[in-house]
Amino acid sequence: MIFYIGCHLSTTGGYLAMGKRALSIGGNTFQFFTKNPRGRSAGKPADPADVSALCELIKENGMHAPLAHAPYTYNPCSADRTVREYTTASMRGELEFLESIEGAMYNFHPGCHVGQGVEAGIEYISGMLGSIMWKDMKTKVLLETMAGKGTELGRNFEELAQIIEKTDGSVRDNLGVCLDTCHVHDGGYKIAEDPDGVIDEFDRVIGISRLRAIHLNDSKNPIGAAKDRHERLGLGHIPLDAMERLINHPKLQGIPFYLETPNELEGYAEEINLLKERKI
Ligand code: FE
Ligand code: FE
Ligand code: ZN
Repeated sequence: MIFYIGCHLSTTGGYLAMGKRALSIGGNTFQFFTKNPRGRSAGKPADPADVSALCELIKENGMHAPLAHAPYTYNPCSADRTVREYTTASMRGELEFLESIEGAMYNFHPGCHVGQGVEAGIEYISGMLGSIMWKDMKTKVLLETMAGKGTELGRNFEELAQIIEKTDGSVRDNLGVCLDTCHVHDGGYKIAEDPDGVIDEFDRVIGISRLRAIHLNDSKNPIGAAKDRHERLGLGHIPLDAMERLINHPKLQGIPFYLETPNELEGYAEEINLLKERKI
């Protein structure tokens, strides 16, 4: 089974340039923001020629599963209807765009229920997914496991399982989960100590077939801190051995891994190399 490993990259300079950057640091996959992550402006729409040049590069080099990450400003379960509507319209637009990138996936944060309660939040998210996804879409839509900062939803596997369960059955097949190692650690899971146990728990609560991507990040904080501060591999509270176990875990073969560690390109190249050395 091929080991798919990459990192989060900037789209500065365009899509083809981004794909080349991924290759230059030894990656065979990558993650990117389709828009400015903290702003509301859509930026320039992607140039279709640039996007198809990226698709060619992906094919020629055996790359796999480019992962688009939704901006942090989206909140599908906001108490404010205008925010929910803005999120819904933006996400639908991005999903339409992603159909032009073969094998793409789309990852998003379930959002913050801001005092409305978990149940209400889950209703909003599953309702939105039913309205923006369609039956024959090619892109997989992934809910990210969250650290549980503030009123963040998705702090445990049960909440994600409920969102999936409540989403319209005709689109549910295209729904998956991206497990972020920093986030689950901050959410109280013993990924540092017992990665196998956490994967078993995921399988029991959500089902391993829903696990489509992994964000490999160390955490600056102790287990259960609910802080969401990423650290470079081996420098935080999750030992490298746990990362090694995950990339070699029999249930995780073929699943793409993405680094979102605080690094420049050079640091990412080193971490990718380190992981390749530890891949059996
Ligand atoms: Fe994320
Ligand atoms: Fe993440
Ligand atoms: Zn994070």
